[in-house]
Amino acid sequence: ECSLLRFIHDAKMALQHIEDDIEQDVTAVELSKAIVNNEMTLAFQPKLTVQGLILSGVEALARWHHPTKGMISPGVFIPLAERHGLIDALTRHLLEQAFKHKRTWQQYGLRFNLAFNLSPLSLADIDIVDWLCAMAAQYDVPANEITFEITENALLGELASAIRTLARLRLKGFHIAIDDYGTGFANAQQLSRVPATELKIDRSLVHRAAARPQQQTIFASTVELAKKLNLSTVAEGVETREDFQVVVDLGVDLVQGFYFSKPLFPDDLLTWIKTGLSQLRREHEGK
Ligand code: C2E
Ligand code: MG
Ligand code: MG
Ligand code: MG
Repeated sequence: ECSLLRFIHDAKMALQHIEDDIEQDVTAVELSKAIVNNEMTLAFQPKLTVQGLILSGVEALARWHHPTKGMISPGVFIPLAERHGLIDALTRHLLEQAFKHKRTWQQYGLRFNLAFNLSPLSLADIDIVDWLCAMAAQYDVPANEITFEITENALLGELASAIRTLARLRLKGFHIAIDDYGTGFANAQQLSRVPATELKIDRSLVHRAAARPQQQTIFASTVELAKKLNLSTVAEGVETREDFQVVVDLGVDLVQGFYFSKPLFPDDLLTWIKTGLSQLRREHEGK
């Protein structure tokens, strides 16, 4: 019965994504224009502590408002940018926006972490570390309030050079998260070499654990591995109260997902912090 509900729920989510993906036929030329024409923005999705549902940080997620084709998904335009040599320009453009928002929040007295996704190609860019430090200084954002997210599979290609860049970022005080963990093929040995601070467990593992108690052992051993490596754990894609209960029982530190909040544009994020967050806490009080 539980799996059936999950199936219906997944089908609804998939449909929503298909609707989002209609008219996603875009070109590299349009993408390069989009950067210049300011069609790129960021949405921010909250990450909360399991203990007390405190706002730990937000993850910046790229959004492209195409003038005629509507919203284009980053699942489409990030690979496009990577294939056409546009990822550097896009990353730099988005990161500057992200740091500007972070500075504004700081000016409002709001201190929380900002997570930013980095393409594996950026890790091969030798100037990236100096540039990121310069940007942090320019926008007055402390390195230890910034996390760079790298997907597990991104680490597999050029592991040695990726590790070198990540180690330099870590030395500067930035946090490093391994994203979508459980979808790739990194083994514990490779994982232990990455100077990461956080492990983000992919939503497919979260959903499997919620659907089948047997699958919880995989999740539990992932959490155990993370603790041994001194990494804090994040469960991604928490969509329901049931998902949340399962990941709480499995001992993760942080949660992120539609159950708490979708990615929000800056104004909506501020509203959510003022009202939505306290409502969530009330709903979960004493639980
Ligand atoms: P990601 O970094 O793993 O980000 C999480 C994705 O899961 C986001 O999709 C988010 O909207 C979605 N999500 C969050 N909560 C839930 C949930 O409860 N259920 C479900 N089904 N999905 C949820 P989005 O925004 O479409 O981004 C997709 C991917 O594109 C990101 O995955 C990231 O790898 C990449 N991406 C996004 N922005 C950037 C960027 O600025 N730079 C780079 N290099 N990659 C980016
Ligand atoms: Mg991410
Ligand atoms: Mg992820
Ligand atoms: Mg992902």
